[in-house]
Amino acid sequence: MRALNGSQLVVATHNAGKLAEIRDLVEPFGLSVKSASELGLAEPAENGATFEENAYTKAFAAASAANLPALSDDSGLCVDALDGQPGVYTADWAEKPDGSRDFMMAMEKVEQELQKKGAVDPADRNARFVAVLCLAWPDGHAEYFRGEVDGKLVWPPRGDRGFGYDPVFLPDGFSQTFGEMEAGQKHGWEAGRGDLGLSHRARAFAKFATACLNAPK
Ligand code: IMP
Repeated sequence: MRALNGSQLVVATHNAGKLAEIRDLVEPFGLSVKSASELGLAEPAENGATFEENAYTKAFAAASAANLPALSDDSGLCVDALDGQPGVYTADWAEKPDGSRDFMMAMEKVEQELQKKGAVDPADRNARFVAVLCLAWPDGHAEYFRGEVDGKLVWPPRGDRGFGYDPVFLPDGFSQTFGEMEAGQKHGWEAGRGDLGLSHRARAFAKFATACLNAPK
């Protein structure tokens, strides 16, 4: 496992919601973070069949362009009753014909697909958020960290915090959706879960921090 030496890290994302969460997670470690969008880096096409492949595409593109280590996040929502969809296509389900993204439309699409399957009972509405963080260096070396959180999809959407599909995701053991939680609750910092985290991103980040940032084991 290669450690992250130095204090500069590029966050290989153009997604404002992800960037805000990654900054929250990284800043306590004293790292100086610049995002791919702030550096004016192009957004590579994501054609991979797995979260890992897409995460590497984004991290390596940013690392080689900036000549610095880069951390990417490839994530998505996997719904059991839909055979794991939308999965790696989670962002694509929000895409409108003009190229912009509408997550209310995407949540409605997921709900319509669940209705078609007759998945109305909470027991039939299991889903999980998955995040794969990839830390890549300009020489092509990469390390991967995966985090997952299980929950159920609710309808109608609840809460206006967070981003993406947060308002329909109720993590197991909680009464608030991610859309109703404060950022610190979604990370798990306020649930007494300490370094383990709650969200898929916080859980993947905890592994990254332990492996590469000399965080307590
Ligand atoms: P990608 O990783 O750029 O392919 O995009 C993943 C998509 O998954 C995002 O655009 C969000 O819609 C969704 N997603 C990933 N993580 C979260 C989260 O923490 N909350 C809500 N939606 C998420």
